[in-house]
Amino acid sequence: MSDISTILQRFCSLDETRYKLAAPHYDADRDCTVATDGSRMICIHGKHSEAVAGYPAWHTTMAKFQWPDAAEFRPLTPEMLPARKSAIVKYVECPACQNFGYVDLEDEAGEQYECECRSCKGTGYLDEEAAARFQAPHLLKGLPKEEVEQDDTEIVRLPGLPENMAVRGDWLHDIAELPGCAFCVSRDDSHMTLFIASGGIRGIIMPVIIKQADCPVAMLKEATHV
Ligand SMILES: [Zn+2]
Repeated sequence: MSDISTILQRFCSLDETRYKLAAPHYDADRDCTVATDGSRMICIHGKHSEAVAGYPAWHTTMAKFQWPDAAEFRPLTPEMLPARKSAIVKYVECPACQNFGYVDLEDEAGEQYECECRSCKGTGYLDEEAAARFQAPHLLKGLPKEEVEQDDTEIVRLPGLPENMAVRGDWLHDIAELPGCAFCVSRDDSHMTLFIASGGIRGIIMPVIIKQADCPVAMLKEATHV
């Protein structure tokens, strides 16, 4: 299994505009270390990093969801997930903003102002196959353009999620190797995947919405007991 700092780092944000989320944060009041990229979060008991000044109020986010009793969580192991594979993702210049990352708009008075491009979220690039892919396009600031190699798997349909939702397989792999990992889907409207693991680890993963009927989705395999 990966060490704790490696696991924490996987949950951190690569987006330069969310630089406060680029490293894990030690919360001294609650004696735990947390990491999040805005779409998923992990909290591990004890001090495994330094405190980050101005870190978002992560504990209020975590408290929003209904956490059932531990008995309702189902085990999750890597064998239950689709195999990880390496994929080359190709990026093209964004046609909406001609690669600038912003577009000129006019306000009601006819004054022009700059606005972040909605198509590419200000990066200037689009994932060429984004419509056919199951991962959210990576934000590319600070990353090499054109071709990026990344871990990929089918998205996974978890029991408890509505028909049009699934969870990124690579994100499930990140937690499945944690000893004692188990999950359940939050019963509120958020449909967050909640997970726990040995040593007081807990966290949340946001679902992805399946936009295309032919999007490849994997089912969770049965747990194999040892
Ligand atoms: Zn654009």
